[in-house]
Amino acid sequence: MIDEKTADVVVCGAGPSGLIAAVTAADAGMNVVLLERMDNPGRKLLATGGGHCNITRDIPIPKLLNSYFGNATFVKPALKALPPQALIRFFEQNGLRCRVDTNNQVYPESDKSIDVLNTFLNKVKSSGVTLYTGCFAQSVVHDGTCFIITCQSGTVIKSKKLVLSCGGKTYPQLGSDGTGFSLAASLLHTVKKPLPGLCGLVTSQSWTAECSGLSINDASVYIDQGQRLFPQSGAVLFTHRGVSGPAVLDISRCVSRLLDEHSVVSIRIRPLATMRREEIDNLFIRAQQKEGSKRLRSVLCELLPSRLVKQFFIMCSVDQEIRCADVTKGQKLKFLDILDNGIPLTVTGIEKPEFAMVTTGGVQCNEINCKTMESNKVKGLYFCGEIIDVDGLCGGYNLQWAFASGFLAGKSLSIS
Ligand SMILES: Cc1cc2nc3c(=O)[nH]c(=O)nc-3n(C[C@H](O)[C@H](O)[C@H](O)COP(=O)(O)OP(=O)(O)OC[C@H]3O[C@@H](n4cnc5c(N)ncnc54)[C@H](O)[C@@H]3O)c2cc1C
Repeated sequence: MIDEKTADVVVCGAGPSGLIAAVTAADAGMNVVLLERMDNPGRKLLATGGGHCNITRDIPIPKLLNSYFGNATFVKPALKALPPQALIRFFEQNGLRCRVDTNNQVYPESDKSIDVLNTFLNKVKSSGVTLYTGCFAQSVVHDGTCFIITCQSGTVIKSKKLVLSCGGKTYPQLGSDGTGFSLAASLLHTVKKPLPGLCGLVTSQSWTAECSGLSINDASVYIDQGQRLFPQSGAVLFTHRGVSGPAVLDISRCVSRLLDEHSVVSIRIRPLATMRREEIDNLFIRAQQKEGSKRLRSVLCELLPSRLVKQFFIMCSVDQEIRCADVTKGQKLKFLDILDNGIPLTVTGIEKPEFAMVTTGGVQCNEINCKTMESNKVKGLYFCGEIIDVDGLCGGYNLQWAFASGFLAGKSLSIS
């Protein structure tokens, strides 16, 4: 038997973007149905920040805008509609106290993502949103006036407006497996190929296993194509199969896109990113002049972990026991190349692509009105969150986007 329902708005996907869109529209007086395929909403939200939930980054808008890989113009209206300070206020007004850490990263004071989710679930109840869980939206049709959403269970819901907030295509066990892209495509939207972003990289150099677990804090990474492309600074972590850590996560979406077209991508890790080439050079000169009898290895180990330094000697084909006074000009240049230009690595793949923290790609931004989040193609259709071709740096930027775009969609629903 077909179970038919109607609503002003159907919000499809109860992640952070869909939850805030639903409560914002309901607070404006709309009759909202929120659909979630999983038995519980916000499964991915619960996993964020290692269970602590890095809600946002409390930084000024101009800086925030530069954290979305060239998408500043598109994300601006949403981020201005709900900037970090307003998001923090939203949570506090709804009973969730937040704390800001030294990096301007914002977390719930309790450090528990469940408290962020519970804040929303309380708000869903108090705003009168009807939440259907275990309800997989299988297909959507627009008949010219209404959206007809058919769920796997047989439930059919008719609404004047529809928000697609189904997330991206990673961590399918948490609900987002890319079906939202199919729904968008069925409504004639173009979807830029979804690829993993914020993920570790697999390299052909097996020596990284020898350094597995080592983290270099003041490092940077760039794609090496004759010029230094997409440089990102921050900590780099060596892993059994390659590299990870914040700087690598931040560059991974660019590597991901290149890997989609090429079999390998060259990157370089600068282990002493805060030092200029002259400073590193001076270090060698000083060591050669004043500490000639000292082993070069000991000098370098004062700056970097010994396991990594050992690899430098192997890469430069220099004896580990060499004393500073015996280092030739040619050998010094080899070390300088690694320390200043960076450790060359050949990326051959993405580490566990299905466990990437975000999807890069998605519904094309030029088909969405960034002032309202409404589709330029189908009136009454809205998008928010990761389903859109927007992804940010690691550390609060993706949730900020999800919340801000969801909020703007929710507000616009009740106005247009
Ligand atoms: C492990 C991990 C840690 C992270 N940590 C952080 C962090 O600390 N800070 C940060 O800013 N970002 C973090 N992120 C990224 C952040 O979680 C996402 O960018 C954000 O959740 C996107 O929100 P969304 O609402 O767009 O999509 P999602 O959170 O993916 O929610 C989409 C929802 O839609 C549902 N759905 C999908 N298809 C359908 C359908 N057809 N019918 C019904 N329901 C459907 C899904 O089940 C899901 O609940 C992390 C991601 C991961 C994986």
